[in-house]
Amino acid sequence: MRLLLVEDELDLARPLAKGLQREGYAVDMAHAGDTGLELALLHDYDLAIIDINLPEMDGLTLCRQLRREKPLLLILILTARSHPLDSITGLDAGADDYVTKPFHFGELAARLRALLRRESTITDPILTFKDLRLDPASQTLWQSRQRRELTRKEFGILEYLMRHPNEVISQETLLEHIWDAHANVLTNTVRVHISSLRIKLNDHATAPTYIETVIGSGYRLVGSANSTLP
Ligand code: CA
Repeated sequence: MRLLLVEDELDLARPLAKGLQREGYAVDMAHAGDTGLELALLHDYDLAIIDINLPEMDGLTLCRQLRREKPLLLILILTARSHPLDSITGLDAGADDYVTKPFHFGELAARLRALLRRESTITDPILTFKDLRLDPASQTLWQSRQRRELTRKEFGILEYLMRHPNEVISQETLLEHIWDAHANVLTNTVRVHISSLRIKLNDHATAPTYIETVIGSGYRLVGSANSTLP
């Protein structure tokens, strides 16, 4: 999942971005409203975190503009305790949720997960597919009773596929949602990660149990999205 963080206070923005990366998100940062808008229109973000009080273009204007241009983008605004009405104005401007500063990182992270669940129409916090159980909150994957150690990118790819069951997901889409703007990615990057993921899951490209290659189009989970585990 790829996030856009628009926050001008660097002392808050930098540690926040680091924390979000540790949670497995790809994160791009903007420090003013106008550059935030540019980035949001350039890339296909899953969610934007927008501070209300921003230079150049304030967060509410940015929010309204994004709502018009990107109706499906999830938006969480950061409001200040000293301006209690901002949350209402923000929701009316099209934000999906808000967090009031100062906040605990854990609260923000939990709200992001809740918003992303809402978007994917998958309401269970644990994603399941066949004998795989993936927990975005703790960044863990189990295959039957075995815990599998995945890199962040492998985890991100599998999570994205599990959030979009039965859809063919192109390499470009995976690059767009799992790598940030600073990543120096090559055309075969996705293929390399898919192949290491398959090795860890003991999956085979020629007779796949989990991830199927759709030649010329991308990747998709094999067969139905129904889980077999409780
Ligand atoms: Ca600010």
